[in-house]
Amino acid sequence: AQQLLQDIESQQSLNAFVDTNADLTLDQARSAEQIKHDNPDNLLAGVPLAHKDIFVTQGWRTTAGSKMLQNYTSPFNATVVDSLKNVGTVCLGKVSCDEFAMGSGNEHCVFGPVLNPWDPDVVPGGSSGGSAAAVAAGLVMAATGTDTGGSVRQPAALCGISGIKPTYGMVSRFGMIAYASSLDQAGVLARSADDLALLLDSISVFDERDATSIQKCHGQANAPGRILSHYQGLLDSADPRQPLKGLRIGVPREYFDDGLDAGVGQAVQEGIDQLVGLGATRVDISLPNTRLCIPAYYVIAPAEASSNLARYDAVRYGHRTQHYKDLEQMQARSRTEGFGDEVRKRIMIGTYVLSHGYYDAYYLQAQKLRRMIAQDFNQALTEQCDLILGPVSPTVAPAIGSQTSDPTAEWLGDIYTLGVNLAGLPAMSIPCGFAKGHRGQDLPVGLQLIGHYFDEGRLLAVATQFQ
Ligand code: GLN
Repeated sequence: AQQLLQDIESQQSLNAFVDTNADLTLDQARSAEQIKHDNPDNLLAGVPLAHKDIFVTQGWRTTAGSKMLQNYTSPFNATVVDSLKNVGTVCLGKVSCDEFAMGSGNEHCVFGPVLNPWDPDVVPGGSSGGSAAAVAAGLVMAATGTDTGGSVRQPAALCGISGIKPTYGMVSRFGMIAYASSLDQAGVLARSADDLALLLDSISVFDERDATSIQKCHGQANAPGRILSHYQGLLDSADPRQPLKGLRIGVPREYFDDGLDAGVGQAVQEGIDQLVGLGATRVDISLPNTRLCIPAYYVIAPAEASSNLARYDAVRYGHRTQHYKDLEQMQARSRTEGFGDEVRKRIMIGTYVLSHGYYDAYYLQAQKLRRMIAQDFNQALTEQCDLILGPVSPTVAPAIGSQTSDPTAEWLGDIYTLGVNLAGLPAMSIPCGFAKGHRGQDLPVGLQLIGHYFDEGRLLAVATQFQ
């Protein structure tokens, strides 16, 4: 553990870590030894990982990448943090993210941009950019992330690693700082689908402290062991020559339109061909409401965010301005100083679409689109295919700073990931090759696998066969 902390120190220029604490890490390493000793079959004991700085942690600071929480330390751990601690993983620290998980490049962060380990000129993706960069740089074996509209899958894709976002409700949101509660879901990032299976399995558990936590998945209790046994069962029963025989993979035509970079499209097609080579059958499908994902999401997510972020009132916790004459001015100034531009923009949009007279025109309309988008997925996954495949992001990682000049460019890049969150489905990203970046350099491309509710075991098994 000491050596790993030194590695983090020597890679400071990546800017992936926002807090480390050697005493706490060494403590956890010692308990991991005991956990391993008591149960030698525990494969997670001693595994070094990092938590996205949006999960609250006792001991390490929790900032959500915001000046608002720059000096905040939580008195308790998020459920995800506790679950991973109890199985013996060793936390090396907290990793950077976009402020309150709003962004796709880890550039909206009070601590400055995180660099992509493949090329320091480009972003690592976001909002779980620090998580992806830390894993890709080999500083940790895995990292937690959160995915409200793609924030686990997209940084995993842009950093050439794997990431999974489970079915909504599978993993507890308790202690995960809220962005848009009906979309937020925790996930994990690691090098291989096999690692993801172990990690996701250990955090998938019913938690009564999260009102949307799932108790049962297809009649089985939401508890450790469920995903792993599904996953292992599929791997064990696969024909070694044609491991994906019988699997129908749906390829939505809307995911290969003009907006997709040609090189990215080619790498994704090659990935799909590889799955066909393993025995899967390709089915061309349509998700006709794909173009509505961005407008629906960017009404619903800011609406929920504006309500969630109302708690930062500078009274209970968070940044408080130095000079004020009354309560109202204290709160207004504290919030103006404490929140960054992207967050303030979304609070403004959110309060607008929820306000009297606009609610029906925007928020209610967006909820209807959400239903239509979910129905597209549901129909395809029940009638046509077992999995849906496509790109994660329309481009490889863009240059640092290139998106800040155009306010909507970053939002448009979320086109292939948002639908999954609006529908609450599980999905993952796995590396499938390389395409050219802005200087002609080779940068990683991710292949997205979308499954039906509670089908994480199958997603992971297919990904393992692919790798
Ligand atoms: N890029 C999307 C947004 O900015 C998704 C972020 C996320 O999944 N946390 O809202």
